[in-house]
Amino acid sequence: MQKNVSSIWRRLPADIVKRTEHCVAAGCERQPDTGDAAIFFRADDIAVPASNFTRLLKLFSQYRVPLCLAVVPAWLTRPRWLALKRVAPDAASLWCWHQHGWRHVNHADQGKKQEFGPLRSQDDLAHDVQCGRQRLENLLGQNFYPVFTPPWNRCDEKTLQVLKNLGYAAVSRSRGSRPPASQGLPSFDVNVDLHTRKEKTAAAGWNHLFDELQQAIASGRCGVMIHHQRMNPAAFDFLEILLRIVAGQKELKPVHFMEYTANKQREVA
Ligand SMILES: [Zn+2]
Repeated sequence: MQKNVSSIWRRLPADIVKRTEHCVAAGCERQPDTGDAAIFFRADDIAVPASNFTRLLKLFSQYRVPLCLAVVPAWLTRPRWLALKRVAPDAASLWCWHQHGWRHVNHADQGKKQEFGPLRSQDDLAHDVQCGRQRLENLLGQNFYPVFTPPWNRCDEKTLQVLKNLGYAAVSRSRGSRPPASQGLPSFDVNVDLHTRKEKTAAAGWNHLFDELQQAIASGRCGVMIHHQRMNPAAFDFLEILLRIVAGQKELKPVHFMEYTANKQREVA
């Protein structure tokens, strides 16, 4: 058994396809009547090429569903980037490569982990945001899109201000994150967690996961968080089921951050 694999991924329930179809359909039925319900997928901790990464991108490619890739700048090197890019050569429009912090280290002395937390000065935070951005711009070139996913989905008010000052298109954390993002910095939050769930039993994990998914779809803004390093064969099987159902669901548009930003701007205009 892999380390850090949630209890739900020990074995898929026998009725998993039916249950997922029902969950997605029920979420769609309850969506607001604006006709622009969207779903995005965000994969975190990207930088090191490996078989799980290849398998992940193949799945999204196969179902033509876009994927937002949160890249840890300090972990990325040119050879690594070239190897990642080889896995995603075609269908560039499917991938949204963006920034996942700087070094993915914890600076909090207690409590929840944070790289961009309140203990640090605005100068230090700005320095790290800029270092990360510069590195990704150098390595990724045109493939980089300026959205910031803070490690552990957490950052403080000063960081949000830095991102706004530097003209980031958006920040991506988890639903209900505090402090809220302000005008001028849209928030594309994840509200479904596939691979870092902590429930003790698989039954509780599945119930909560399906509740999350249905509510997120019903809200019209569903963001699914992926941690590919923690995925085992069952987790890949479920992701494939979910992608197949999502791709076939007319009421749900799979997007990535670039399209999301365009929608937001239209909303504001
Ligand atoms: Zn992370």
